[in-house]
Amino acid sequence: MHSPVPESPSSFAQLAISPALQEVVAELGFRAMTPIQAQSIPLLLQGYDLIGQSKTGSGKTAAFTLPILDRIRVSARQVQALVLCPTRELCGQVAREMRKLARRHPGLQVLVLAGGEPGRPQAVSLESGVHIVVGTPGRTLDHINRGNLDLTTLRYLVLDEADRMLDMGFADEMEKILEAAPQNRQTIFFSATFPASIEEMSARYQKQAQRVTIDEGAVTAPSVKQIVVEINPENKLSALHGLLDQYRPETAIVFSNHKAAIAEITKALGEWGVSAAGLHGDLEQMDRDKVMAKLRNRSIRVLVATDVAARGIDVADLDLVINYDLPLKPDTYVHRIGRTGRAGKEGIAISMATPRERLKIEAIETYTGSSFEREKIQLPKQEKALYQGAAMTTLSIGGGRKDKLRPGDILGALTGEAGGLDAKDIGKIEIHDRVAYVAVAQSLGRIAVERLREGRIKGRKFSVDWVR
Ligand code: ADP
Ligand code: MG
Repeated sequence: MHSPVPESPSSFAQLAISPALQEVVAELGFRAMTPIQAQSIPLLLQGYDLIGQSKTGSGKTAAFTLPILDRIRVSARQVQALVLCPTRELCGQVAREMRKLARRHPGLQVLVLAGGEPGRPQAVSLESGVHIVVGTPGRTLDHINRGNLDLTTLRYLVLDEADRMLDMGFADEMEKILEAAPQNRQTIFFSATFPASIEEMSARYQKQAQRVTIDEGAVTAPSVKQIVVEINPENKLSALHGLLDQYRPETAIVFSNHKAAIAEITKALGEWGVSAAGLHGDLEQMDRDKVMAKLRNRSIRVLVATDVAARGIDVADLDLVINYDLPLKPDTYVHRIGRTGRAGKEGIAISMATPRERLKIEAIETYTGSSFEREKIQLPKQEKALYQGAAMTTLSIGGGRKDKLRPGDILGALTGEAGGLDAKDIGKIEIHDRVAYVAVAQSLGRIAVERLREGRIKGRKFSVDWVR
């Protein structure tokens, strides 16, 4: 029977995927397929190998995840799909998106295998049986070599951000993994660029690869408003103050090229009353995770970072990206501003440039094929307090996925009879392996900590702390 509802050319409804998956995309608010999804999902459902390219934020994760989920057998606790990503943060981001899409696949296990974490618990999880592995090439190969990760049942091998994995020096590991995978698998490459090295890898390891390239003319997302303000170096801090006062972003990231400037900028923000945190390369992984969780759940407003520290950081839809220093290379500029204006929302990117940097600005314009709006900035006469506190505060709970904690359990403990809070005051709940982060309205933080400490979650006691 034909559906009575007319289908737009890129409606999910025209896809031959299960009704459960159709419901999930509708629940997640995906109204239409993005172009990369519309072109690649049908090919993947037909079993083709694929080499795909489209800009950041265009929904590539769902493009490969929906076909995988459509075919996965949850009853078989064996690794059926392996997704390789360049960094630990990107692995986390992809795993989160996959779990969201797998909400109608109860029991489906997605495991992240990334460095910076002990390998033993990862091996134990593999032993207990998982369906999908998302890993960095190094750690994944390590588990293959140790005999912890068995690929004989693998049906899908995805290389996400393949060009970046090569840039990061993972060519050897990628090839060894491609060789360790069984022949009758589907191989999917996603990449922002196609250098010769990727073409070679595709020719060697893919069969009849179908190419999908979504060329939107410019390299940058058209939904990002790009502004440049000319400023003398000594006035940059003052200009930052003025910009935050003017734009009042809910969430923003400030990029500097200098590690030493991160602390200075973060301190100034604190003095103005803007809730902020700095991210620099020397932070312990655990502290990085905390900072990122706080940005995602709106417990801090502004993140200050260098490019290295921000590599692969996992936040979408920031309102504002500020380039406190112009990036050294135009492609870094594109990476930076790709963090705003995702999936149809308009974002704003403001770059501070000194009068001597006009040529750099032109180089970026040539590279992106778009031009900056030039704006003048009024420097504030004095730096009045801005008082832009965050809406939420973050609590950590000493239990996670491995303790079988689910978001509903924590929400239940906070809003149930013992908790007494209102669900509208509870924000994002993130469950990690051994820890969970929950955002609660700033003014209710203390009450929430008390109630959680007094009460139980799922009938058990867990430690509860503020994440400062
Ligand atoms: P990419 O890998 O291309 O950079 P992602 O897969 O990370 O992009 O997706 C970016 C965001 O867009 C995610 O938050 C995702 O949930 C959302 N998204 C994906 N597909 C759609 C869609 N069809 N409609 C609306 N939002 C979508
Ligand atoms: Mg991606």
